[in-house]
Amino acid sequence: MRILVVEDDPDLARQMKAALAGAGYAVDSAADGEEGHYLGDTEPYDAIVLDLGLPVLDGASVLKKWRRAGKKTPVLILTARDGWSEKVAGFDAGADDYVTKPFRMEELLARLRALIRRAAGHASPALTCGPVSLDTSTSRVEVDGELVKLTAQEFKVLAYLMHHRDKVVSRTQLTEHIYDQDFDRDSNTIEVFIGRLRKKLGVDVIETVRGLGYRLNEPDPKGDKSG
Ligand code: CA
Repeated sequence: MRILVVEDDPDLARQMKAALAGAGYAVDSAADGEEGHYLGDTEPYDAIVLDLGLPVLDGASVLKKWRRAGKKTPVLILTARDGWSEKVAGFDAGADDYVTKPFRMEELLARLRALIRRAAGHASPALTCGPVSLDTSTSRVEVDGELVKLTAQEFKVLAYLMHHRDKVVSRTQLTEHIYDQDFDRDSNTIEVFIGRLRKKLGVDVIETVRGLGYRLNEPDPKGDKSG
């Protein structure tokens, strides 16, 4: 899952980036409304954190431009304390949720998890696929109740597939959602991560859809691996 942070306060931006990266997200950031608008317009984010008071172009205008262009990415706005009119303007511009400054990182993370989950059509924080479960709030992955230890990148790949289970996800799509903008991307590494994930999970849930990508689905109860 990849997140864009648009915030002009460098300390707060740094803290949010660190907290989000620590929680397993790929993170890009922008320090003004124009750059933020450009990134949100051109890169495929799973959620966006948008400060309303920004230089060059204010947050509400940025959001309105995205929504007018048909962008459906969940957006969480950062508002000033007692800024009720700002909140109303933010929601009217197309915001999905907000936190009021100052806030606890835990609250920001919890709200983002909920936004990302709901945007993918899941109501519960625990995502499951047959014997595999991934708890988005604890980042715990289990197979038949047994803990499975994954590296950060393996977790990112599995989390994206779990959020989009039963859908075909291309290698390009995975690459775009597990790496930030500055990362030197190589879509061949996705194959390596998938191979390791299959081995670690030990169950047949990641199907290769030839020429298209991967699809997560429940293992065939008959254990038929042909075709
Ligand atoms: Ca600001």
